Order: sequence, then C-alpha cells, then structure tokens
Amino acid sequence: KLMNKLFADRVTDVPRSFIREILKDALLPGTISFAGGLPNRELFPLEGIQKATNKVFDTIGKDVLQYSNSEGYLPLREYIAAQYAKQGLSVPVESVLITSGSQQGLDLLGKTLINDNDGLIIEEPGYLGAIQAFSLYRPKFLPVPVTSAGMDLEKFKKSMNEGKPKLIYTVPNFQNPSGITYPNKNREAIANIVKDTKCLLIEDNPYGDLRFEGESQTSFKKLIPDNTILLGSFSKTVVPGFRIGWIVAPSELMEKLIIAKQASDLHTNQLSQCIIHQFLMDNDLNEHIKKITKSYGHQKNVMIECLEKYFPKEVTFTRPEGGMFLWATLPKGISALDLFQLSAKEKVLFVPGDPFYINNKGVNTLRLNYSCVDAETIEIGIKRLAQSIKLLIEKTID
Ligand code: PMP
Repeated sequence: KLMNKLFADRVTDVPRSFIREILKDALLPGTISFAGGLPNRELFPLEGIQKATNKVFDTIGKDVLQYSNSEGYLPLREYIAAQYAKQGLSVPVESVLITSGSQQGLDLLGKTLINDNDGLIIEEPGYLGAIQAFSLYRPKFLPVPVTSAGMDLEKFKKSMNEGKPKLIYTVPNFQNPSGITYPNKNREAIANIVKDTKCLLIEDNPYGDLRFEGESQTSFKKLIPDNTILLGSFSKTVVPGFRIGWIVAPSELMEKLIIAKQASDLHTNQLSQCIIHQFLMDNDLNEHIKKITKSYGHQKNVMIECLEKYFPKEVTFTRPEGGMFLWATLPKGISALDLFQLSAKEKVLFVPGDPFYINNKGVNTLRLNYSCVDAETIEIGIKRLAQSIKLLIEKTID
C-alpha cells in the first residue's frame, strides 16, 4: 500500500471493472458464461475484413500507416453521416468525431463537460462502463430507475428540478444491462422536460441496429436535436477489436471534444478506420446485421423459453426486442451476489446487479447475456442456474 498516497483523488473511488474480474473465471473449461458482454465471434466477418485489409494496403499504401487528423478518416465520417440521413436525422459530417470505441466518447464527454459535483442523471440500472468513465470526473450521480416503461418520469422530473443536472446519460435501445427499450411515449415525455433547458442528453446507441422484433422507436436526436449528443459504434455490428466508435455533437462542443481527443491520443487508429470503411464499401452492412439479429433473436427466444420452463415463478425478467442482454429480478431479499457464489461453483456465470447501481448493494437483480451461448448450452446453463436459485430461496426462507 506504499503507493496509495501517490494516486490522484479522482482514481481512488473508481471501482475496478467487476465484469472483467469475473470474465477471467469464465475462461475455465466447462464453465457456461452468461456474464460476458461480447458480440458472438462466430459472426465476425473475417473474410470480408481480410479482403478489405489487402485492398487498403494496395490502394492507400504507406499513407495508411502515417499520422492522421484528429476528427477521423473523412470517408468514414461521411458514411456515418449518410447512415443517419437514411434514418431521417440531420447530421452534418463536421459534427462526427471518430473515437476509439464509443467508450472513449464517454471519457471525452466527461473531460469536456463534467466539473466536480456537476449533476448527471444516469439510468438505474446503468451501463457500468459509463459509471466508470464518468466517475473519474467526479460528478454527482442522480440515478433514475428504468423499467419496461422507460425512465421513471416522476423521479426524472424530481432529479431535473432538484439536482440541476448538466447531463443525462441514456441507452434507450436494448439497454445494457437490462435489455429495455424506452417506448416512444416515454421518450416524448422526457424530451418535453429537457427541451427548454440547457441540459445535454447523451443518447448512447451501440445496440440500436440489433433489433430482432418490434418497431424501432424515435431517436432523441429527432425529438430534441439541440440537446442531444449521439454516441455510436461498430463494435456490435462489425467487430469490437478495431475500437471504432463516434460522437455526434453540436459545433461548439465539437471544438472542445477535438482538443480533448488530441490530448488523449492525437487520433483514432488510422488503419482500423480505413479497413472498416473499405469493408463497409464492399459489403452490405444491413445483410450482415440481419445474420446477427437472426442469431441473437433465436438465442433470446431459447433463453426466455428456458426461463419460463425452469425458473421459479417468483423470478421476473425483461423481454428484449434486440441487443444482447436480459435482466432478471429475484424475489425480494435474495441477493444476486449470493446466487453468483453458489452458481459459480456449478460453473454457471452471470453478472450480479450490484455494479450497475450507484448506491444500492446486495441487490436482487442480475444480467444474463445470450449472444455468446448456443441454444443447447443456454438450456443446460439456465437449468443449472434455476437449481441454484431454488436452493438459495429455500436457504433464505429457513
Ligand atoms: N455503451 C454501451 C451501452 C455499451 O454496452 C458499450 C460496450 N459494452 C459501450 C458503450 C462501449 O462500446 P465500444 O467502446 O466498443 O464502442
């Protein structure tokens, strides 16, 4: 503990990623993991990326290995702007900044917008990576519960009035960790509350394209364009290893974001940007996304069927229309951390709810990932997990 005195205050309170810790255990042979947040590697378009890579070296040559500009590779920014235009969203190319994953977008937004104790509304449960990224800038988190109906409007209004937030962080489509999508009615109500304020709403949307059923809902960018910052990513639709994401922000903020980006890493990896762009030019992304959603949709259905069949009736769960996760709620008083201890012995892993909350500890909720586990393994894993739940309920009642 000799070094403790050396650390900056801003890192002393930030927890290590619990998910990364348990992912280590997931590598043990024979373990069934519903814990990861990974896209399914079987669906990576390896051949297309290999071809795109060769083409980039053949056509661009040495320049692809040179330093480049901080805003990102222009043709890639143009592609992203054009995709938004197809969805009816007005996004000028200049408002797109390529980042090293949307995770860096969160960090850059923290850097440019958060002073100590600034109010920041965050979903509860919320994306762990955002809690971690923002924590470094020491905001005052204002957690607002999210249910299948979207954000709790009463609590949202209260936090807006009393907390005087500068920022609102949302994942309105197939949220990580809950799989919930805010219905349009909820989005409109939130937009009405935010529209005449100076508050900025971050719409983090890495899963939006992975819809396997239902109707797509309206982007906040459409409802309150001046208040909305978009975050996007190719991690779930192409591959995460390239670390390519983006921020869409108004011009005044963009100036500051570019300074922060330069200070952080000068620019995003140029080779990855060029390869992904070439891949997008030579392949139909929508066709590729259809393959992903077909597979995830099937795995989600299998998981829901197994939950209905094997879990005790008191356990409830969300029914995602897209994305990679669902969220289960155990009976009151049953700790998901206790369940984790028990089920890890049976070689089944998931993420207990605790790290997704700002304050609550020992919660009765958990995240289940279905994107990386095939149908047969889902059944075996859920059956085993159900046994552990039953055991824990009996033990707790005794
Ligand atoms: N936001 C959310 C809600 C996520 O789930 C993730 C990845 N797990 C990210 C952002 C970061 O993704 P990336 O940096 O790979 O774009």
